[in-house]
Amino acid sequence: MEVVTGEVAGLAVEDDRLTGVRLADGRCVPREVVFVGATRLAARDGVLRQLGARRDETPFGEFVAVDGTGRTSVPGVWAAGNVTGPQEQVVNAVGLGYRAGVTINTELLFGDLEAAVDGGTTA
Ligand SMILES: Cc1cc2nc3c(=O)[nH]c(=O)nc-3n(C[C@H](O)[C@H](O)[C@H](O)COP(=O)(O)OP(=O)(O)OC[C@H]3O[C@@H](n4cnc5c(N)ncnc54)[C@H](O)[C@@H]3O)c2cc1C
Repeated sequence: MEVVTGEVAGLAVEDDRLTGVRLADGRCVPREVVFVGATRLAARDGVLRQLGARRDETPFGEFVAVDGTGRTSVPGVWAAGNVTGPQEQVVNAVGLGYRAGVTINTELLFGDLEAAVDGGTTA
């Protein structure tokens, strides 16, 4: 087996088919198939970054930290699905989104009830 060392600069593609791997030193190694091992993932979490949500380091990259309900470190902001971890599947993302929604609804409801009690509008 040949081991080619060097920094990969890109893929060579002709007629929508892979033809090789381009290296930073200008060489092009002919290949028809490329397999990429474990790599770092980058979640599309720009909004959460802007809000300053805390992130946790994982072997696959950084992901927004959430508790069991999807609550982030930013008050009033929940997250679920791919932005919260590298291991998600559709069924998990849907379930976590549902749980976050229920929690948000509950907090809004109890917030209204407490405000009503404080305002003396309940019997
Ligand atoms: C190659 C691959 C294969 C997979 N195969 C499977 C599989 O077979 N079965 C399975 O269950 N799961 C599979 N998954 C995982 C699955 O796709 C994810 O777990 C799931 O899509 C997570 O849903 P999500 O809503 O969290 O994120 P996404 O599906 O990524 O949805 C997020 C959406 O938000 C949008 N978005 C991001 N930022 C913004 C913004 N600022 N403003 C507006 N919109 C924005 C994005 O464009 C995107 O449409 C696979 C994933 C990959 C990458």
